[in-house]
Amino acid sequence: SDGLDALLDGQLAYYRARAPEYDEVYAERGFRHLTDLVERLPVSGDVLELACGTGQWTVRLAQRATHVTAVDGAPEMLDIARRRVEAAGLVATFEQADLFAWQPRRRYDTVFFAFWLSHVPPQRFAAFWATVARAVRPGGRVVFVDTDAAERDTERVVPGDRATVLRTLKDGSEHEIVKLFHDAGGLAAELGKLGWTAQVDPADGGFIRGVARLTDR
Ligand code: SAM
Repeated sequence: SDGLDALLDGQLAYYRARAPEYDEVYAERGFRHLTDLVERLPVSGDVLELACGTGQWTVRLAQRATHVTAVDGAPEMLDIARRRVEAAGLVATFEQADLFAWQPRRRYDTVFFAFWLSHVPPQRFAAFWATVARAVRPGGRVVFVDTDAAERDTERVVPGDRATVLRTLKDGSEHEIVKLFHDAGGLAAELGKLGWTAQVDPADGGFIRGVARLTDR
């Protein structure tokens, strides 16, 4: 391969190492009320959350859903998420899996992911959405939140066509991870080509929110 697998392994390793410091971003100003967004998104029924991280969104989803199944590749993230959901007196099912290999065993009313799509490389974009399609019940929805294109200015973009950025952890270690700077209109068009009817809109604070349904269902 062109090193993509190694890049994706490195990306997961970065998040595993970042897990203990990940929540700090949610304590910052711009992120503090971000998960309130769930209240304005069409999340309902049996929910699947992909790349749940430390469970910041899982808690909000669990308050609204009949049930939440949350998947992430990092055991360190899942441990924190599990504790957060439990501390809130809520219930969710957690599963550790590599989302570039994982396949759903059943279908859900809502498939949700926050800050995950921008870490899916262009070469895996279509395959990822095909996997998502197999996880959605007829009439079901995909709901996502991510950073917008302006995020580029805040990242150390690696020159070249790999669509990667450099991130540094508190221990000084440097990591190259995938980061796409999707804009609302371009993303909706791309999803249209893959068979989705998608509405992607800017959300307050430099974020985008998307809702997608399979066009032929
Ligand atoms: N959704 C959470 C949020 O919004 O706070 C976490 C988002 S974080 C930017 C990306 C998440 O993707 C991390 O929790 C990381 O462990 C997970 N991840 C990275 N690579 C993965 C992979 N190959 N399979 C599954 N999860 C992965």
